[in-house]
Amino acid sequence: MKIFIRMATALVLFSSGAFSQTAADAVDAHLIAARNAAGFDFTGTLARLCIAPPLVTGVRDAAPGPAPTRETWFAEPAKVFDNLYFVGSKIHSSWALTSSEGIILIDTLFTYNSEEEIVGGLKKLGLDPAKVKFVIITHAHGDHVGGAKLLQDKFGSHIVMGGPDWDSIEKSVNGYPLGKPKRDIVADDGQKITLGDTAVTIVTTPGHTPGTLSMLFTVKDKGRPLTVAYSGGTAFNFPSTVPNFDIYINSQRKMAAAAAAANATILMSNHSEFDGAASKIKMLAGRKAGEPHPFEVGAEAVARYFKVSEECAEVSRLKLKAP
Ligand SMILES: [Zn+2]
Repeated sequence: MKIFIRMATALVLFSSGAFSQTAADAVDAHLIAARNAAGFDFTGTLARLCIAPPLVTGVRDAAPGPAPTRETWFAEPAKVFDNLYFVGSKIHSSWALTSSEGIILIDTLFTYNSEEEIVGGLKKLGLDPAKVKFVIITHAHGDHVGGAKLLQDKFGSHIVMGGPDWDSIEKSVNGYPLGKPKRDIVADDGQKITLGDTAVTIVTTPGHTPGTLSMLFTVKDKGRPLTVAYSGGTAFNFPSTVPNFDIYINSQRKMAAAAAAANATILMSNHSEFDGAASKIKMLAGRKAGEPHPFEVGAEAVARYFKVSEECAEVSRLKLKAP
């Protein structure tokens, strides 16, 4: 792990040219803080955010590429908590939160795999996709919003998204060759999306995109209620500017505080790369009576997750300010 981080420091310094010793020391301090926060729990997040993240010059409005072959993405659905079901792919997550009045779906994968993974996955699990009443989209990138139009058109599901991300869909020229979801519910900070006996609390966390949504909700493990902190946007693929990193850093702190106030002991993201969902679901299959749930990492680890994203963003921000 030590070599790993030294390499990262070297890469950071290389790419930014002349760098004062003080600036280099400050970068090192943030890298060490990020490494310590990651521990063995969040190495994927550390690798993606702290090791030479890309310098981004602008937002692209690219058309989606061709669909990759099925074996690169297909994953079986799984029941993960009493009231939470995984209907995602090998790489991306989509979750069905069940309630007394239907289903709240969180994120919708790509257009090319949402029908098989989400609609097909719900059916395999014995759930009715027509009962998806709300779909919460964490942000309008193709790997999370791809199935929103399908659910809206086919089942009349209400789509919940941040206002700036609805705007970006409407402005997009190339991003939605098969059609766009129609503007529906614009999420507000602190808003509760309530369905029967269940509610999801929205925490707006701009940064990854201007309208990124994170959230808090309750799951049950054999009847025991546990709080999930769901992080809606992680990577630094927004234009690399100091003000954008300031916004991102503030959102990590805001979500960490919201998670702590709610005593969240589970951290979820929409990429297995960041929260280990794919391997945790495999571990769950071998769970014996009395063993902890693999997703229940504890409040201290949830806090460390947001420290990793905050500290790595500090590194990138410092690089932009140097020398
Ligand atoms: Zn994204």
